[in-house]
Amino acid sequence: MGILEVKNVGKRFGGLQALGDVNLSVQENTVHAIIGPNGAGKSTLLNCFVGKLIPDTGSVTFDGQSVLGLKPYQINQMGISRVFQTPEIFGDLSVLENMMISCFAKRDGSFELNAIANMMKDKEIIENAENMLEEMNMASKRSMHGAALSRGDKRRLEIGMCLSQQPRLLLLDEPTAGMARADTNNTIDLLKQIKEERDITIAIIEHDMHVVFSLADRITVLAQGTPLVEDTPENIKGHPKVKEAYLGETQQV
Ligand code: ADP
Ligand code: MG
Repeated sequence: MGILEVKNVGKRFGGLQALGDVNLSVQENTVHAIIGPNGAGKSTLLNCFVGKLIPDTGSVTFDGQSVLGLKPYQINQMGISRVFQTPEIFGDLSVLENMMISCFAKRDGSFELNAIANMMKDKEIIENAENMLEEMNMASKRSMHGAALSRGDKRRLEIGMCLSQQPRLLLLDEPTAGMARADTNNTIDLLKQIKEERDITIAIIEHDMHVVFSLADRITVLAQGTPLVEDTPENIKGHPKVKEAYLGETQQV
C-alpha cells in the first residue's frame, strides 16, 4: 500500500467530467510524477489531495487516513505540504521573515500577522529559519525582500518554507512553470538533493518533460481525467499511447 492512495476518484464541474475514475498509489520515499496534456485534470486531482476540492466519488487516503472533508491546515498537520503553481510568499517581507513565518506556524499552529513583531525576537524561530535558509543555500539573501527574488529563488524559498513544516509528502504543481532554463535546472538539482537527504515522498505535477524525466521514479499519465498509463520513465518515454495523448501539444514525450 502506498503512502497516498487514490481510489475511484471522480469529479464533475457542471457538464464537464474533469476526473473520470482515477486510481493511483504513491509509494513512500519515491518521486511520483503526474503528467498529461493541458486540461487533463492534473491540478483538479492535486486539489483533491489538499482539501481544496472534495471529489464526487471515491476516496483519498494519506497513511491510511482519509483526507476528504479536512481543512487544508489539518491536511498540513497530517504531514502533507503543497507548493502552489504561483509562489505564495510575502513580497514585502524579507526572505528570513518569510521563513520565520512558516517555522512559527509549525511550532505554534497558527498566528496573526501582528505577531510578527514578537516573532522577530523569538530566538528559537530565528535559529530554525536561519538553519533552513542555510540548507536552501539562501542565507546570503536573508535580508532581501521576497518580491526582489528571481522566480527560481522565490520557488526555492517556498520549497524551503514547505520543508520547515517537516512534511512526509511534498506536493508540487508545475514548480518550474514560466522559469528560464537555468532556474529550472537549479530547481531540479534542489529537488534531487531533497530526495537524497530527506525521508520524504514527492508527488509532482509537471508539464516540462525534462523535469519529469530528471526526477521521477514512477509516472502516471492522465488524459481526459483518467490515467492512461503508469510506469517507469524509461517505459513512458516514446510510449505510443502517451505520444497520442500529447498530439497537438508543444511538449514531446
Ligand atoms: P490541468 O491541470 O491538467 O491542466 P485542470 O485540472 O486544471 O487541468 O482542469 C481539468 C478540466 O477541468 C479543464 O477542462 C478545466 O477547464 C476544468 N476545470 C478546472 N477547474 C474548474 C472549475 N473550478 N470549474 C469549472 N471547470 C474547471
Ligand atoms: Mg494545472
